[in-house]
Amino acid sequence: MDKHDYDVIIVGAGPVGGRAATLLAEEGLRVLMLEEHKEIGRPFQCAGLVTPSAMDAVGAHQTVLQEVDGALIHGPSGTLVPVGTDGKLRTYVVCRKRFDQFVVQQGMEAGASLWLDSAPLSATTDETGVQLLVRKEGEERSLRCKLLIGADGAHSWTRRMFKMGRPKELMIGFQTEVVGYEGRERWLEMYSGSSIAPGFFAWVIPSGFGTHRIGLWSTADRLNGRSIESCYQDLMDHPLWKERFENTSEIARYCGPVPSGMVKKPVRDRVMLLGDAAGMAKPTTGGGLGPGFHQIQCILAPLVNAIDENLLDEARLKAITKQPWNAMKKEQDRARTLRNLLVSDCTDEVLDKHFINFAHPDTLSLINAIGDIEKPVPLGMALLKQVPAFRPLALKAGVRLLLS
Ligand SMILES: Cc1cc2nc3c(=O)[nH]c(=O)nc-3n(C[C@H](O)[C@H](O)[C@H](O)COP(=O)(O)OP(=O)(O)OC[C@H]3O[C@@H](n4cnc5c(N)ncnc54)[C@H](O)[C@@H]3O)c2cc1C
Repeated sequence: MDKHDYDVIIVGAGPVGGRAATLLAEEGLRVLMLEEHKEIGRPFQCAGLVTPSAMDAVGAHQTVLQEVDGALIHGPSGTLVPVGTDGKLRTYVVCRKRFDQFVVQQGMEAGASLWLDSAPLSATTDETGVQLLVRKEGEERSLRCKLLIGADGAHSWTRRMFKMGRPKELMIGFQTEVVGYEGRERWLEMYSGSSIAPGFFAWVIPSGFGTHRIGLWSTADRLNGRSIESCYQDLMDHPLWKERFENTSEIARYCGPVPSGMVKKPVRDRVMLLGDAAGMAKPTTGGGLGPGFHQIQCILAPLVNAIDENLLDEARLKAITKQPWNAMKKEQDRARTLRNLLVSDCTDEVLDKHFINFAHPDTLSLINAIGDIEKPVPLGMALLKQVPAFRPLALKAGVRLLLS
């Protein structure tokens, strides 16, 4: 009989690797997580927003720093669109270090093993398993498993090793943590405009204990040679907003990638990508935790059967993932198309006009009734269909959605 040290080896003990380890170990599988760092949850590159459904999946409520009821969204010339209702929770802000540790610990409590300071050096697949050479605390170890999962983030080693393609978009995020910002309690803020976040938006998020996270994101082509830090400085110096930032003092800063757009080949023979490695972050918000959790949850039962039977060739993995992952990819593509049409591909002048329409009381009621960070497509479609000012865009949207 072929001897496997583990049923599944997961490269990367981030939140998605930890979640996958939990779900697979709970099914009685022997799971090992490899984490290249010496501790979980560092370095952290995240605004820490966790949607209620992602939070419910893991129950990490003790890692919450702040609850948020809504967003105060500002157009390039200052038009304010408030989305949300006081007292109605929209999202959580967590301490990412504690959140990641909590999720990985769940995996270990379910029976998974964790090797810190460990990373794969090489991997080859054959008819019955995956042969891995791993560096563990400076020493080389040979391991064999049935399935290799790459949950190793935006620059995934697994993805490169098995030539699985690239995420469609790679956004660059930059963020500081500050004290001294006076915001509205339980509300986050968003700012738009080509000087501060070309095609995307900047954010100010309350993160508990008097601190705020101030950040922004964009893509390299939209930055067109500018550094993301210079955009941040433009936000700090913006004539409309600078007074808000005057008394802030920075206590940390980070920069990181946000991969969005599922890679072409998320599965190969005995290999699968999850989370940022697969390009799962949302094109509208950059949120990657919810989609990463859903990606493993929605294929769990057939995947566990296939691991039990050790039938894990590419055709079988494709059959397991095809329907649920294609649905996720389609939703991502549609959300990106609508985002580009309504926000990212607009000049500041056009975006200002859109904001005036967003701020109309009827449109605001529609946004508050249908708006859902997790499912932006229905809102985008409703705006195009029901708001007279957006109707001219509907035909364009239809064509682009057909082509997306
Ligand atoms: C500025 C910014 C703000 C963001 N804000 C939010 C937000 O508010 N909400 C949200 O949901 N998402 C947000 N995201 C995205 C979110 O951080 C990611 O989608 C999420 O962390 C993906 O989880 P993951 O487990 O797939 O990957 P990661 O969190 O990147 O974890 C990958 C793990 O694999 C390890 N690893 C990598 N390579 C190897 C290797 N070769 N061997 C062993 N281990 C390896 C890493 O050390 C890491 O621990 C933000 C991203 C950025 C950059």
